[in-house]
Amino acid sequence: MRSLTLLIVVLFTALTAAAASPAPAESRISVPGATVVVQFAERVDAAVSRDLIDWIERVADQVSMPYGRFPLAALRVVIIPTKGKSWGGDSPVPFGRVTRRDGETVELYVDVDRPVADLYADWTATHEFSHLLLPKISWRQKWISEGFASYYQNVLMARDEQYTPAQAMRKLSEGFDRGRGSRPELSPNQAAEEGVRHARYKIYWSGAAIALLADLRLRSRSGGKESLDTVLGRFQQCCLPSKQYWSGVQFFTQLDSLIDEPVFMPLYREHADTPGFPDINAALSDPLLREQVLNVRTSPH
Ligand SMILES: [Zn+2]
Repeated sequence: MRSLTLLIVVLFTALTAAAASPAPAESRISVPGATVVVQFAERVDAAVSRDLIDWIERVADQVSMPYGRFPLAALRVVIIPTKGKSWGGDSPVPFGRVTRRDGETVELYVDVDRPVADLYADWTATHEFSHLLLPKISWRQKWISEGFASYYQNVLMARDEQYTPAQAMRKLSEGFDRGRGSRPELSPNQAAEEGVRHARYKIYWSGAAIALLADLRLRSRSGGKESLDTVLGRFQQCCLPSKQYWSGVQFFTQLDSLIDEPVFMPLYREHADTPGFPDINAALSDPLLREQVLNVRTSPH
């Protein structure tokens, strides 16, 4: 370079070019056992897209934690940029969903103007990815698909240290309180019939309570060798990806076939058609929750 001015001009030109260059239409991420293709529904700045792809890779790693590999060999993620608070409240990821018509796809609406740290702190993507640990479940037992995803969204955010253990415990506890207060006259199956609009918290949190109870029963009776993680890992080996809709009974029966003594169907018989809310007070104070499920190392001090 011959002059500082020229250097500045060249640098300025390079920076403006970088800022203006649109993100590539599609990027591929390798995670344990899978390739994740990330697509953008609209052009976003290249630097922003790199941040978003890093974030998706982190979320994919979270959902690989339960059994050391991603639940599916292939996934498409579509990021739909949104701006500001026009809808979806204050969340940087105001909406997400999984579609499974033509291969599994996670769609995420993302406020791309928010700092990337806000995305890491948000649970929406972890929740949607957690749905991939299960097959499609009949809407009549929506409490299983939404409940297990709600349970894992908190567990995985804690294991990934996006939540402190105390935060994760509080979020679980507050969720269960909302579920307990929501439509107590309905059973989980009746709540699913009523639909998410009328019984959202009952559906989400009664299912999360049953996931917690199953997880702790498996862990306590096996001395930590079995857990919801290991059973879902076996389920993935036998049955994912799956094109069919599974009824709650089919799915829980299949999970029980993967362990020595049934855990899931006994919980189904106890709670699926019973009004009220599962008693999870003992589970919430069980040390296994902090020490194993949330993977908290006990401080040596
Ligand atoms: Zn969900």
